Amino acid sequence: MAYNYDYGKTKYKNYFQCYYCEFTTDLDLDYQKHVERNHLSKPLYPSIKQIQELLLEPQDKIWDNLGIE
Ligand SMILES: [Zn+2]
Repeated sequence: MAYNYDYGKTKYKNYFQCYYCEFTTDLDLDYQKHVERNHLSKPLYPSIKQIQELLLEPQDKIWDNLGIE
């Protein structure tokens, strides 16, 4: 029987999904390293404005809404 004891862990599983490829991770640091190595000069956490400018797919993450004018 499954309990919710690991809810805190699974909640953020693959929370960090790369905007530029299929890469996913649940670790912030892994995501930062990935973008630095593979997508140099691309924003780590693009705002809505950057998402529109770069024609990215919005992910509805907290930082998606930080750049609203
Ligand atoms: Zn990527």
